[in-house]
Amino acid sequence: MSASNIRDTLVQMDRQDPLAGKFSDFELPASQVYLDGNSLGCLPVSAKQRAREVVEQQWGQDLIKSWNLHQWIDLPLSAGEKIARLIGAAPGQTICCDSISVNLFKLLSAALMMRPGRHVVVSQQGNFPTDLYMVQGLGSLLGADKCSLRLVADDGIEAAMTGDVAVLVLSHVNFRSGALYDMKALTAQAHARGILVIWDLAHSAGVVPVALDACKVDFAVGCGYKYLNGGPGAPAFLYVAERHQSQVRQPLTGWMGHQAPFEFDNDYRAAPGVAGFLSGTPPVVSLSILDAALDAFAGVDVAQLRRKSLALASVFKQGVEQASALSALVLISPADETLRGAQLAYRHPHAFAICQALIAHGVIADFRAPDILRVGFSPLYLRFVDIGRSVEVLNQIMLDDVWRDPVYAVRHKVT
Ligand SMILES: *Cc1c(COP(=O)(O)O)cnc(C)c1O
Repeated sequence: MSASNIRDTLVQMDRQDPLAGKFSDFELPASQVYLDGNSLGCLPVSAKQRAREVVEQQWGQDLIKSWNLHQWIDLPLSAGEKIARLIGAAPGQTICCDSISVNLFKLLSAALMMRPGRHVVVSQQGNFPTDLYMVQGLGSLLGADKCSLRLVADDGIEAAMTGDVAVLVLSHVNFRSGALYDMKALTAQAHARGILVIWDLAHSAGVVPVALDACKVDFAVGCGYKYLNGGPGAPAFLYVAERHQSQVRQPLTGWMGHQAPFEFDNDYRAAPGVAGFLSGTPPVVSLSILDAALDAFAGVDVAQLRRKSLALASVFKQGVEQASALSALVLISPADETLRGAQLAYRHPHAFAICQALIAHGVIADFRAPDILRVGFSPLYLRFVDIGRSVEVLNQIMLDDVWRDPVYAVRHKVT
């Protein structure tokens, strides 16, 4: 197909896209294509409005009254319920709070306490580092005889489920390769051996269908600032299956997780339900922004999001396959789209410089050390024509060796 035929096809795909109307719910940077929604989602108009309202009116004018007047106190639960719909969780099991790291600490501790006599935590080699670091930190607090990390290759997860394993900590989608794991099968295999499972949904919540209740998942965590578009450093979320809620305990027993925080009692008594997993005062400004951002998902079905993000990825993947200048980019994501999340990852020895050149030419992708170029397909605000353009720009950068300019080799603190 000629370039103009391809463009016509993409315009047609945008016209037929049932999610096309969502594009205008976002403030997008002018004349750029944003393929990094898997690192930091774009700004929903609703979030921008709420940011102004929460700062100017709620904080500025209503001050302390806002805890009740604007339901600040309920935000961890109310924002949690908006996310619950996206992850297949019935009400009463999901809250927004803290970061994934801190939430993992709480859930790991809770899971280990539920499995006395077992001390091994199994995770994937190549899992997101913070997930592994939190297990290591808990291991140094409790001692290796109470908590120790066992890292296994993807095809060795089931074999690693021995009698000393208390809990599996697994990412639903690998942050580098985009590989999608079988939540239902792995959870069932773990349960058959008395093992609990914590799923990390950072790269699936809001873009890949997740069925926590149907898969009988025990615990889950996820990210507010990636596909949920909650803004930089937005609070994370956590899920505790209802059947565990009356038995679990967690060690970060702050006053917001107390049954009656405003009685200021000397003794901790956990709040019933998932609220017992709250610790300190919620970050009201960022939680309000996340809460408003979640309204962009109103009326949207996750299956629709999935369909569109796969279609966007497919256009990108085919474009790369057909461009002769791009043959050195090696796809490390599963070629079978049913086995991946909402991103594609390519290996190239000069991935860093290529990524910098792309950004300088208006296509925002990201780089993961040592040699991976990652592109994410956030279906709420990306158009098919944007994907076409991003492939054209990438092709031109490679054809003209643009990336060889030394300015694209300079590394900053965040890569
Ligand atoms: C982004 C991400 C995190 C981030 O953790 P925070 O503690 O919230 O910064 C954790 N796990 C995975 C898999 C991620 O992709």
